[in-house]
Amino acid sequence: MRAKVLVLGGNFGGLTAAISLRDELHGDVDVTVLSDRDHFLFSPSLIWLPFGKRDRADITFPVAPTFEQAGVEFVVDAAAGIDPLGHIVRTVSGAEHHYDYLLIATGARDRPDAVEGLRQNAYSITTLDGATRAGEAWRAFRETPGDIVIGATQEASCFGAAYEFLFNTSYQLRRAGLKRRTRITYVTAEPFLGHFGIGGLPHGEKLLGMFLKKENIDFRTDTALETVDEDAVVTTGGERIPFRFAMIVPPFAGQEFLTATPGLTNPAGYVEVRDTYQSLLFDDVYAVGLAAAVQAPWTTPTPVGVPKTGLPTERMAHVAARNIAAQIRGEAPADHQTFGEIPAVCVMDAGNNGVLILADRMLPPRRHGVLVPGPQNHAFKIAFEKYYLWKMRAGHVSLP
Ligand SMILES: Cc1cc2nc3c(=O)[nH]c(=O)nc-3n(C[C@H](O)[C@H](O)[C@H](O)COP(=O)(O)OP(=O)(O)OC[C@H]3O[C@@H](n4cnc5c(N)ncnc54)[C@H](O)[C@@H]3O)c2cc1C
Repeated sequence: MRAKVLVLGGNFGGLTAAISLRDELHGDVDVTVLSDRDHFLFSPSLIWLPFGKRDRADITFPVAPTFEQAGVEFVVDAAAGIDPLGHIVRTVSGAEHHYDYLLIATGARDRPDAVEGLRQNAYSITTLDGATRAGEAWRAFRETPGDIVIGATQEASCFGAAYEFLFNTSYQLRRAGLKRRTRITYVTAEPFLGHFGIGGLPHGEKLLGMFLKKENIDFRTDTALETVDEDAVVTTGGERIPFRFAMIVPPFAGQEFLTATPGLTNPAGYVEVRDTYQSLLFDDVYAVGLAAAVQAPWTTPTPVGVPKTGLPTERMAHVAARNIAAQIRGEAPADHQTFGEIPAVCVMDAGNNGVLILADRMLPPRRHGVLVPGPQNHAFKIAFEKYYLWKMRAGHVSLP
């Protein structure tokens, strides 16, 4: 009988792992993807949605045809619980899915309740619905402009998106002739500018400082938020920074249903994995991408999380797929790569400018790391968006 592999989540990690596993085993495996939504979302473009530079249709596509073409069964339903001993996943609709191997790629959820008032009084661009609401608020803001606060709370990890939204906001204000009438403040848990949750890169602090100075943006680093009031953020140090519009990236956590399985996750709901991306406890359960726990090799005065970006997510998915294929062939999982040793490649967009971030490892100790500023990075980000959406839609997951 053919082995049955169940993949939870059909976005960056899940789509890559499911199709890559079919390729590894030349189709000789039954792969089912279970996802709570029917579309792929290119989340890096959410930074542009509020400004009307993208809409939903531009940055999503229906995934069913992609899976069908790859010979992967696709079911839209949300996983609600895992029984790792019985090898069963239960869903919110009451269905049961049996598996021989399980791969968890369910991403992360926002934790807007981490700071009082954050949910009610600030916008976030970390989800499609959140970015859509931020767009409505942005259009209203343009009618009656005022102060702006953009930032990332204590324990947040998606700092790159906060910077991108910050510089895009500044660019849009200038284009609308509103720049002189607004004051922007960047408030972040990072210990210094350009830390990004990955420990910073050479000259990063200076470069980000220059960008902020040029855009006339005020900033607070190493700052935790006490509350977000209707018209101001209040830091734990007691400072009140007023705003008429605020976009603040919240902390993330693993999906809630995962925490009900004893021994699977850490307290934040992320699946604890080995460098094979197998669960610490269950040899036949894997987790990749945002869903997998990552340990930062540092502590910071104000806690920050580690961003699990697209490239490491894909790398984890390929490693996990190769290891599941090995297990199905009766071999031991032999592919190892820790999150920290995966290279870092990212583009931070800044409206009509940007910064290319390259490093030999996601986490220190590193031998090489460089930030390359320049308008070509904005063009590169747009080209990459088109390429990536094409690549995933066509199921060409082995392409870079
Ligand atoms: C605003 C923003 C900007 C970003 N910018 C960049 C960037 O510039 N470069 C970069 O490399 N990375 C960027 N990232 C990070 C990138 O989006 C992530 O690395 C990537 O999405 C991780 O993939 P994933 O598959 O782990 O999770 P996701 O892409 O979040 O996918 C999770 C999937 O699981 C599904 N799911 C959730 N719960 C369930 C459930 N209970 N049952 C079944 N399915 C479920 C979801 O519907 C989704 O399909 C950005 C992220 C954000 C939010």
